[in-house]
Amino acid sequence: MTNTSDPQRVDAVVIGGGMAGLIAAWQFTQEGLRPVLVESRGYTGGLVAGSTLAGISYDIGAEGWATRLPDSAELATELGLTVETPATAPSWVYFDDACFAMPTNAILGIPADLSDLAVISALGADEAARAAELDRAPMPEELPRDLGTLVASRMGPEVLRRLVTPIAGGIHAADPHVLSADVVSPGLRAATQATGSLAAGVALCRSRMPGGPAVASVAGGMFTMPAELHRQAERAGATIMTRMGAREVTHHGDEWLVEAAGTSRNPNPSLPPIPDGDVRSFVTPRVVVACSAGPATKLLSSVIDTAGPEMVPGAPIGHVNLALQAPELDANPRGNGMLVAPGTTTVTAKALTHMSAKWPSLAQSCPDGLHLLRVSYGRSGETNVALSVDQALADASVLLGVDLSADQVVDSQIIHWTGSLAPTTPQTRAWRDGLHRQLEALNQAGRGGIGLVGAWASGSGIAALVPQARQTVRQLV
Ligand SMILES: Cc1cc2nc3c(=O)[nH]c(=O)nc-3n(C[C@H](O)[C@H](O)[C@H](O)COP(=O)(O)OP(=O)(O)OC[C@H]3O[C@@H](n4cnc5c(N)ncnc54)[C@H](O)[C@@H]3O)c2cc1C
Repeated sequence: MTNTSDPQRVDAVVIGGGMAGLIAAWQFTQEGLRPVLVESRGYTGGLVAGSTLAGISYDIGAEGWATRLPDSAELATELGLTVETPATAPSWVYFDDACFAMPTNAILGIPADLSDLAVISALGADEAARAAELDRAPMPEELPRDLGTLVASRMGPEVLRRLVTPIAGGIHAADPHVLSADVVSPGLRAATQATGSLAAGVALCRSRMPGGPAVASVAGGMFTMPAELHRQAERAGATIMTRMGAREVTHHGDEWLVEAAGTSRNPNPSLPPIPDGDVRSFVTPRVVVACSAGPATKLLSSVIDTAGPEMVPGAPIGHVNLALQAPELDANPRGNGMLVAPGTTTVTAKALTHMSAKWPSLAQSCPDGLHLLRVSYGRSGETNVALSVDQALADASVLLGVDLSADQVVDSQIIHWTGSLAPTTPQTRAWRDGLHRQLEALNQAGRGGIGLVGAWASGSGIAALVPQARQTVRQLV
């Protein structure tokens, strides 16, 4: 490994080329600067990625954003992309002994109205009445901070088990007891305190949300958004270097010295690339750290105190994506898809997304009778998931209530996202807020501008990272 040059002076350095890093680089160009973005893998986009199945381009990573904030749709529009909403259909939940459509008047499965017919059919009338009774209890001085205890304490264990746990497991790949309620449903605890019941708190939060579907994406696939950010940022003067991993960030007078090295592919693609190439250094007044929690805190450890709680490892998420010639699925028997309750023994999958039913532009790309399914595996606490097309086909048959056979499989793809979605616990949230406070203090001391962006650094998912990445860059300019 050699040091190829003296440090290069640049307007800004962005470390990490996932959605957050690409937005930061693009935003710098909008502010008239020419940033350098270093990405250790051979491609940008991070956890938002596309591939092809039966010749059809589709999302293998994140497929959209939560619409509770307007920023992602605004950004898509600014980029010239068309926002797409999913087909209107409830989510279903599968238990060994039941399969039902989830109440739609809810947040993360927590109902806004416990007398809703969908709630009664999911819980039974007695259990729904018991939950309503519990939720009338006086408010404690402080509500529990984790989602699981919050729901169980206000509505009882059955609401948690039947309605919330499947949704939390499906969306956040975690048990509700490890999820910070303030992160996965911002404002819910405060609204519950203010209204005097969890159901009313959910109703209040829902009334503040924009109308329409809870998620949205980009026509043609979510993966087109990072591709467009990459293209437009480069066209506007950004330099985007893939296979280049940042190794160190240190003070350099009142600026920053960022040292990076070329990388090569790790034989295990789930592991980070190996930094064994030539070294490049950059001197800059502005740094944005946009990689996931582990590498970000390692880089920041020479700048601030990064000691924190032990991270809860992300679930070993795995997908078997199937293209099936199956006209019997034309009626979309389970709407856009379904979640499988933990502890189910008749299927091993944890969720199924009927992708070509859910996204209109994907449906248009599929010839008659062709359907794209994502069968998802890997729950929190599991260490390993064995994925196979046969198992996915068997699970899909049970979940969709339709017999599907191997000769209907036109194409398939197995994707591992091991450990990529570490849940935000109340402890990690407090620690993360402390990191932001320390960086803010550095910025105010005038010793170079530095920001920390990304899904883990901003809350949860794309909805939170978009405004945070843009705002962070605006503050550094
Ligand atoms: C299967 C799946 C489905 C999902 N579905 C949704 C969804 O529907 N809605 C939603 O909102 N979210 C979803 N998510 C989560 C969402 O994809 C992520 O929260 C988001 O894409 C994270 O973006 P990011 O830029 O913060 O991080 P990442 O995408 O992780 O990007 C970080 C980048 O930094 C790079 N990097 C790391 N270390 C270094 C270094 N030292 N130097 C240079 N580069 C480095 C990495 O290679 C990576 O490319 C999903 C995630 C997965 C895996």
